[in-house]
Amino acid sequence: MSDPNEFPPAPLTSTDAVHAGDARAKPYDAVPTPVVQTSTFTFESSAAIARFTNGESAEEREEYGRYGNPTVRAVEKRLAKLEGTEDAILFSSGMAAMTTAILALVRGGQHIVYVRDGYRMTREFVEGTLARFGVSADLASARDLGAIERAIRPETRLIVSESPTNPYLSCVDLEGLAQLGQKKRVKTLVDATFATPFNCRPAAFGIDLVVHSVTKYIGGHNDVLAGAVCGRAGLVSITRDLRGVLGSVCDPHAASLVERGIKTLGLRIAKQNANGLAVARFLSEHPRVERVYYPGLPSHPDYAVAQRQMTGFGGVVSFVVRGGLEAGASVVDRLRIPRIAPSFGGVEALVEQPAVMSFYAMTSDERAAIGIADGLVRFSCGIEEAEDLLADLDRALS
Ligand SMILES: *Cc1c(COP(=O)(O)O)cnc(C)c1O
Repeated sequence: MSDPNEFPPAPLTSTDAVHAGDARAKPYDAVPTPVVQTSTFTFESSAAIARFTNGESAEEREEYGRYGNPTVRAVEKRLAKLEGTEDAILFSSGMAAMTTAILALVRGGQHIVYVRDGYRMTREFVEGTLARFGVSADLASARDLGAIERAIRPETRLIVSESPTNPYLSCVDLEGLAQLGQKKRVKTLVDATFATPFNCRPAAFGIDLVVHSVTKYIGGHNDVLAGAVCGRAGLVSITRDLRGVLGSVCDPHAASLVERGIKTLGLRIAKQNANGLAVARFLSEHPRVERVYYPGLPSHPDYAVAQRQMTGFGGVVSFVVRGGLEAGASVVDRLRIPRIAPSFGGVEALVEQPAVMSFYAMTSDERAAIGIADGLVRFSCGIEEAEDLLADLDRALS
């Protein structure tokens, strides 16, 4: 198994995915972690409650489901091991993870710097919800550390970033970002959903908190919503306390699906990295494709950064079909393997055209202003064979 203390950390292996952080002995001698489907936990006596409250219980135990659950806790320990952080917490969704982590760190009067091409709902939370509580924010380009630095004010508490970003797969220089945060005494948070710990571990570069939409690659089967926050014990602990207040806990059954997903993460990511690269190379030579965005292609603006900090580039490829909205839609509609749906990272290929999905409410000009081309298609490879995906794309594009 790889040593998380090595720098830069050795790439994770499937041995890590199956065994890292896994308890050797489990209740009832089970192999997987049992689903402890209970909302509360009993105490044998009032004295046992006193021992628990004073932190003197002989064993690690739980009190009430909103504060913790053994199935959830087991998955949290595995994620922390894989991410190379002291601790991790699981949530009911990626957005629950992101919003709880941010709320745990900022208060009214403080300021956040947020990357421009980040996940749309995170941006909405920062600019809409947090603004109502007196937290201000400035946007800066993910790939411009100078602009991020200029946006920092004395009251800035947090830089919220993403790497790679959606849908253009921009990569942030994580080491530079972490150093900037340390220099300015500002905490750094990176949403690494597109990378997964198999392709990049931001904490190794000094990033304070790593957030995942576990719904995507880590869950990996398009069957469960979950999120995670990973980082140093202190920061994770205040986020955990706030989760107990806000209540966005992961259900034990969902946690068990996540644990099952994690075991094959290494196999799936290896296949999806290979598929992503094959699809990106194929599309970049296709005459009907205007432009391809994939950080593993030398033509991507962040190719050098990605090569430095990632060991693979994932299964998502964004590309612009020549001819705009209708041309893009006709390619999407002609594809036979991927289903048309938002999301990515599962074993099934999915495809979406941002102009008709996430950004449908805007006019073509508004989309252009935020850089969403009408003919942009996001193709998310599953674990299908690359030759089948390429044949399907070839047919749809012809
Ligand atoms: C999907 C996604 C989220 C939100 O996660 P949910 O699990 O859908 O709540 C956050 N960030 C990124 C980058 C995502 O792709």
